[in-house]
Amino acid sequence: MPPVQNAQFTELLTLSAALGKDMRRTQGAGGNTSIKIDGTLWVKASGTWLAHALDKDIMVPVEITPLVAALHAGDPRAEKATDFVLNDLNASGLRPSIETSVHAVIPQAVVAHFHCVNTIALSVLEQGEAIIAERMAKDAPGLTWAMIPYRRPGTPLANAIAEVVDKRPDVLVLRNHGIVIMGDTVSQVAERIETVTAALSLPQREPMPVDAAWLETVSSGTAFAPAKDRETHATALDRASLGIALSGSLYPDHVIFLGTTIGQLKNDDTVAGYLAEASISGRPAPKMIVVAGKGVLLSSELTAGGEAMARCLAEVVTRVPEGEDIDYLTSAQEYELSNWEAEQYRQALDRKGTAG
Ligand SMILES: [Zn+2]
Repeated sequence: MPPVQNAQFTELLTLSAALGKDMRRTQGAGGNTSIKIDGTLWVKASGTWLAHALDKDIMVPVEITPLVAALHAGDPRAEKATDFVLNDLNASGLRPSIETSVHAVIPQAVVAHFHCVNTIALSVLEQGEAIIAERMAKDAPGLTWAMIPYRRPGTPLANAIAEVVDKRPDVLVLRNHGIVIMGDTVSQVAERIETVTAALSLPQREPMPVDAAWLETVSSGTAFAPAKDRETHATALDRASLGIALSGSLYPDHVIFLGTTIGQLKNDDTVAGYLAEASISGRPAPKMIVVAGKGVLLSSELTAGGEAMARCLAEVVTRVPEGEDIDYLTSAQEYELSNWEAEQYRQALDRKGTAG
């Protein structure tokens, strides 16, 4: 039974579940949807999965006007938005998404934000804006859009979006992050999602076969094991994709769930040997280790959300066009993401399994 008796709300849950179940559009707890009804923003709760929209209560009610006022005033309460939750209607008791202020500042009634792997793969390119402009003009000519520079999710991103909302764009491409698609009704947003994701789609490079037996042997007796999901191995199975993955962090959820270091086994290294060496030299143990031409090993410490993020990386790097210059997150941006209280809450939920 949905918490609100509203046909649009129910439709949004159906759209959310579909978005959440498509690995090319949403991975783990990433992405969030919202609807504005009578001054209340119903937005996905932090740490919950869009994929569960029809099985669990995932939406939190937030009062829009005071939240937007707080954002514009630079009031730090806008960041977590917990002070603006309508507790009487919040049966789940969950916290609103870390991206709530982004949803609140957008005037349209229905907002879908997700981590479309094609959009990410284009948005990290130095020439990304020009390429996206060409594709949108050709395949989504009826839609207006704007490119938003990279900002940390939460109020910094909401403030950057606030600068363009007066023009009421239908689509926002978030550099090194994902996409936001807006509209007046759920069906309009659903239709736009199909149009835009088709316009921005990219071919995937063909991976070599995974060497599962070799990966088992080299990791035996350690806290690492071959990725269970076959597609996740693709990161290590062509030279261009591997080079892109190892050259830096591309988007926030990668840093938050997998950290800034991807381990790489070379020559005759074993996982045990690699970890011992990392420990001696004081480097943090990675959560993911790649082996060129063999596949990907994941730490047993990874949650379902972390595993989904390893898959996301494969989906993104195999689509980033070869030979293009890439804007990676800077070390200051990585640091900002790694030391962020709201994110630690989201990860704690993920560990407890609330999110999985
Ligand atoms: Zn996001």
